[in-house]
Amino acid sequence: MKPAPFDYHRPASLAETFDLLERYGDDGRILAGGQSLVPALNMRLATPRALIDINRLPGLDAIRLAPEGLVIGALARHEAVERSPLVREHAPLLAMAMPHVGHEAIRTRGTVGGSLALADPAAELPACAVALDATVRLEGRRGRREIRAEDFFRGIYTTALEPGELLVEVVVPRAPGWRSAFQELARRHGDFALAGVAARARPEGGGAIGDARVVFFGVGPAPRRARGAEAALAGRAADAEAIAAARRALETELDPPGDVHGSPALRRHLAGVLLHRVITELVGERA
Ligand SMILES: Cc1cc2nc3c(=O)[nH]c(=O)nc-3n(C[C@H](O)[C@H](O)[C@H](O)COP(=O)(O)OP(=O)(O)OC[C@H]3O[C@@H](n4cnc5c(N)ncnc54)[C@H](O)[C@@H]3O)c2cc1C
Repeated sequence: MKPAPFDYHRPASLAETFDLLERYGDDGRILAGGQSLVPALNMRLATPRALIDINRLPGLDAIRLAPEGLVIGALARHEAVERSPLVREHAPLLAMAMPHVGHEAIRTRGTVGGSLALADPAAELPACAVALDATVRLEGRRGRREIRAEDFFRGIYTTALEPGELLVEVVVPRAPGWRSAFQELARRHGDFALAGVAARARPEGGGAIGDARVVFFGVGPAPRRARGAEAALAGRAADAEAIAAARRALETELDPPGDVHGSPALRRHLAGVLLHRVITELVGERA
């Protein structure tokens, strides 16, 4: 199918972008990598009156180190994040997750901002942002505001973005001494995950975990922090007993959906298996 007709704008500045967002209101859509929006246009699931192409906005694709942490611009492509030495050093969880996002051709166009703004429940990056305790920077005509990733994702394809706002950056705070692990299960590599988990932990030596942060995706409407599992792991040796307690916690705190790809029971089981794997990685030699 072909998309419905639309106006096309390619603003050269944020100010021009905000003018266009104001002019079109709900009828205007930001175009970033287009990897989700263009298929939706082609299938006429989205029929905006105007596309506002932000690909020429200067500086929005930067990945830089700042006093507050690693700052990743909304237009940074998945592939650039995957290959960035800064990301590998300061946010290795993102580097681990990126190869699971679609296929290479998709990652050369898809953007960090697009993935976070879209908030697909099965997407990798929103869960990573929550696991990393990242902050999302939003900007509109009335100025800039920041919101913790944990509060940004509100539900299926729903975020705290207000009309007229653009997601401009995401900030990953420094976390020395924390380790990361990422696991997902998809029917084929590159497919959206049936279930996945982004995790971080501060090991205390001797196989013990000080603090843990465990965030699932694909098992609910938005990234799901497994606080019960985190509590079961924190401050103790990550032995079979602790892992079993963390898995038991998932039974009550995850309420996965069922669909043609998998039942709630299958997804809950997969979540437990993935949790076991990330804990083993987090306290293992090579984590
Ligand atoms: C075959 C295929 C497989 C895929 N597999 C995966 C996968 O496994 N995991 C995964 O996470 N994704 C997957 N994707 C989606 C891909 O990662 C997209 O790149 C991503 O979801 C959206 O990023 P984008 O830059 O392409 O955004 P676009 O498609 O350009 O935009 C997506 C939405 O976000 C809005 N938007 C974009 N940027 C901003 C911004 N800066 N501020 C405010 N709103 C904005 C747009 O208006 C639109 O509503 C897949 C896509 C395809 C085609």
